[in-house]
Amino acid sequence: MSRLAQTHGLTDVQREILSTVRDFVDKEIIPVATELEHRDEYPQDIVDGLKELGLFGLMIPEEYGGLGESLLTYALCVEEIARGWMSVSGIINTHFIVAYMLKQHGTQEQKDHFLPRMAAGDIRGAFSMSEPALGSDVSAISSKAVQDGEEYVLNGQKMWLTNGGTSSLVAVLVKSDEGHPEGTAPHKSMTTFLVEKEPGFGEVRPGLTIPGKIDKMGYKGVDTTELIMDGLRIPANRVLGGATGRGFYQMMDGVEVGRVNVAARGCGVAQRAFELGVRYAQQRHTFGKQIAQHQAIQFKLAEMATKVEAAHAMMVNAARKKDSGERNDLEAGMAKYLASEYCKEVVEDAFRIHGGYGFSKEYEIERLYREAPMLLIGEGTAEIQKMIIGRRLLEEYRFQG
Ligand SMILES: Cc1cc2nc3c(=O)[nH]c(=O)nc-3n(C[C@H](O)[C@H](O)[C@H](O)COP(=O)(O)OP(=O)(O)OC[C@H]3O[C@@H](n4cnc5c(N)ncnc54)[C@H](O)[C@@H]3O)c2cc1C
Repeated sequence: MSRLAQTHGLTDVQREILSTVRDFVDKEIIPVATELEHRDEYPQDIVDGLKELGLFGLMIPEEYGGLGESLLTYALCVEEIARGWMSVSGIINTHFIVAYMLKQHGTQEQKDHFLPRMAAGDIRGAFSMSEPALGSDVSAISSKAVQDGEEYVLNGQKMWLTNGGTSSLVAVLVKSDEGHPEGTAPHKSMTTFLVEKEPGFGEVRPGLTIPGKIDKMGYKGVDTTELIMDGLRIPANRVLGGATGRGFYQMMDGVEVGRVNVAARGCGVAQRAFELGVRYAQQRHTFGKQIAQHQAIQFKLAEMATKVEAAHAMMVNAARKKDSGERNDLEAGMAKYLASEYCKEVVEDAFRIHGGYGFSKEYEIERLYREAPMLLIGEGTAEIQKMIIGRRLLEEYRFQG
């Protein structure tokens, strides 16, 4: 057990879950992660193992067959998994967001229909807001749904779906003008559709095409795709929550818990980078001593460990706030911002400690170096986090003069 990133006040059940996950990560993920990543291979055996552990249903209520655990338990599991391989945490994260949105906003029929099979990992979720022309500016979405009797007809192109190929349920955000008069604010005329499809690529349902995997610099193994809707017909009972016009708020709610998880991923990757750096610093000798004995390297290790601790504390605070039922957008934004920036810096320092070997694909740090930047972008860039943080601060500290 590492001294860093400890979490106080956990229950016996939480401790047991985390120790099982850490064991799984050490035995089943770390030994194979870099090789699979270099081959851009989907980690099917690992996913099957996570399914067996019940991780796909970690936060789904027990009445639907899940473990009914808190956001904190979930985030701490994500941290452990990302320490092993960030892509694996990406496989469960979009699933978790969709299950969370269903739990919070779904109709009873939608919960009964999807959640038990999601808890078992038999249905896996992806979520889709981004389009080729937008990511941060969600209000500019142009994909559209038009009502036709008991169905809606969806057209448009979506971008950057994590698990777009491997999922069988996608929560898709589109514009839906009907029932919302001209002049309605864009975010009040958006709807989330629950789109079921076959896993795979090509035409996965009439009117719905997943063209193929996007070739990425890192975060490999997990598939990231586009999604093209061309006359896609979806029954009205697959509007999330049963009423149009609420999609923006539902997605923002999902993204808010997703942000805690991106923060957790940053914590996990930073912890692994620290482990690799502190180990290498005691193996490599220059000028007659271990490089760890050079003060400049010790200072790096000190800075790295301090960042690991700080990011973990912020992430835990944001998760606990949400679990207590309070609004946590400020804390989640801060945790996501800090953890992803610190992760990039800790990874860079571990890379520098490795000297030339950090540049070799034989060393794990090379993979981490290509993975860390994704955290700066996904679930809202640093600039978007700062906008959220700034607005909330001005609400909290409104000048009364
Ligand atoms: C690997 C990967 C997986 C992803 N998975 C998903 C997914 O599963 N589902 C999904 O819907 N999306 C997903 N995304 C998309 C991701 O959420 C977006 O890429 C992200 O929100 C940024 O949007 P953008 O790429 O369009 O950049 P833009 O919005 O075009 O931003 C470009 C730059 O401008 C800055 N900027 C934008 N607006 C402002 C402003 N008002 N003030 C100051 N600066 C600003 C940004 O911070 C950024 O630096 C994924 C992305 C990646 C790379």
